[in-house]
Amino acid sequence: GRVMANSKYEYVRKFEQSDTCLPNTWIVVRLDGKCFHRFSESHGFEKPNDLRCLSLMTNSAQCVMKEFSDIVLAYGQSDEYSFVLRRDTTLYSRRASKLISTMSSHFASSFVFHWSKFFPISPLLYPPTFDGRVVLYPTSANLRDYLSWRQADCHINNLYNTCFWALVHDGMTNTDAVKQLKGTLSSDKNELLFSRFNINYNNIPPVYRKGTTLIWSSQKETVRSKDCSRRAIRSRHDKDMLPGKDSRECN
Ligand code: ATP
Ligand code: ATP
Ligand code: MG
Ligand code: MG
Ligand code: MG
Ligand code: MG
Ligand code: MG
Repeated sequence: GRVMANSKYEYVRKFEQSDTCLPNTWIVVRLDGKCFHRFSESHGFEKPNDLRCLSLMTNSAQCVMKEFSDIVLAYGQSDEYSFVLRRDTTLYSRRASKLISTMSSHFASSFVFHWSKFFPISPLLYPPTFDGRVVLYPTSANLRDYLSWRQADCHINNLYNTCFWALVHDGMTNTDAVKQLKGTLSSDKNELLFSRFNINYNNIPPVYRKGTTLIWSSQKETVRSKDCSRRAIRSRHDKDMLPGKDSRECN
């Protein structure tokens, strides 16, 4: 019968490896688009920054936050989003593979589901893929440094890409633009943008320079409806992920 068959085969479950995340640590899940360099070209993204895709990424991250309410903060830039879970979360018993797979699949399906709202005249040409990983941070200082690291990456890439595309849009070949920027410091790039293109880098919208931070905020006007969450997600582009005055926010 059924019981006999189960006991015969059940030993295979013991082959499953445990992957529970250490207790009392910040769990960060970072997702990143697979081959989005190609994806951005196939879908005619504006360079250096396509706001439609950044907005769709942020919308997908908000869908993930609503689905998994133990996420306290999310940070996104380019084709990536990082999700920070409460350090005492027991979601999926803290199993890494469950956390990564459910968040990345919910992100990807939301990205596809809402695509046409952000790209009304550009059809989605093929199903996009997002990879995911878990990283654990034992202290709030480590977590803050992680977020600073992602934001520094955003800044460095955006400064480079802003110069690169300014040169290319001005008629330079890709190869020559790479040559021109090779070995330059940040100050050289700022100077190039200002003197040659009359661009003050600091005036470029913060969403491009600093990325997007999503945090929960309690709604002032409380709507008492049984399935209406009393929390809203706040989106910020001005947040500096640097040690300093508001460093207690992540505790
Ligand atoms: P991998 O699979 O290793 O992640 P990738 O091609 O996705 O490869 P990334 O390092 O993740 O490489 O970089 C993402 C690339 O996607 C950027 O370099 C840029 O070319 C493109 N991209 C992503 N988002 C945008 C956007 N909003 N606007 C313009 N280009 C974008
Ligand atoms: P969990 O999130 O723990 O996986 P679950 O509800 O998905 O919860 P499963 O043990 O994975 O539970 O079982 C999937 C359930 O989905 C089935 O018990 C059945 O009720 C339903 N289901 C899935 N596929 C079908 C199908 N093709 N036809 C009818 N019901 C289905
Ligand atoms: Mg990569
Ligand atoms: Mg990528
Ligand atoms: Mg990336
Ligand atoms: Mg099942
Ligand atoms: Mg199931």
